[in-house]
Amino acid sequence: MPGYKLAIDGPAGSGKSTISSLIAKKLGWTHIDTGAMYRAVTLLAIEKGINLNDEASYRFLESTYIHYDLDKIFIDNRDVTEAIRSESVTNNVSLVASMPYVRKQLVDLQQKAAKNGNIVMDGRDIGTVVLPHADLKIFLTANVEERAKRRYKENVKKGKEAQISKVIEDIVIRDQKDSTRKESPLKKASDAIELDTTYLTIEQVVNKIIELTDKKESNHGV
Ligand code: C5P
Repeated sequence: MPGYKLAIDGPAGSGKSTISSLIAKKLGWTHIDTGAMYRAVTLLAIEKGINLNDEASYRFLESTYIHYDLDKIFIDNRDVTEAIRSESVTNNVSLVASMPYVRKQLVDLQQKAAKNGNIVMDGRDIGTVVLPHADLKIFLTANVEERAKRRYKENVKKGKEAQISKVIEDIVIRDQKDSTRKESPLKKASDAIELDTTYLTIEQVVNKIIELTDKKESNHGV
């Protein structure tokens, strides 16, 4: 059975992963965080010491198994869930994600992973490229100060050093790179529903999306 496909896109810090994970838990669906996959490739590329600007150096992906399951990300069965959140990965991931070869490999993987069952997939190009026929497409936004505040709180909770001005700067730079790159830039799909979450709680956003999912589901096959 192919199942229901829910695509959630949006800029850095818009809450996509947290919200997608909660929706998946509530509905008993599978969640795939594609940002975690780009981060895993970045981590491995840094560990291997390749030239990150050289597209041919990413051929190691042909023999690498990247897998996202139950809020955890694995490279060849090594759990790298924590490691992909490092500053060096965050600072380099947009460059790695701009490589057409890397995108091709990961989009193939994501499309295969989404083939069967009910799926919530979040990222930057899910509604536009990965799942263009998704049953429901959501584009999450929030103003940059709010997104930075959320990221800052997350960092503090994890005991990471953080400065709000630096967090804002990182988010602005990453959004700029992600939305201006040539290959599948961050963009709202023409048939996506935009949800501004600046003044909403996580729970309100989760409930709103589930409500939209229900509506679409009841229209299914009508
Ligand atoms: O979602 P997260 O912020 O962890 O994503 C990290 C980076 O991965 C993004 O800044 C973007 O460069 C890249 N990405 C992408 N396409 C996706 C998901 C993430 O290019 N579908």
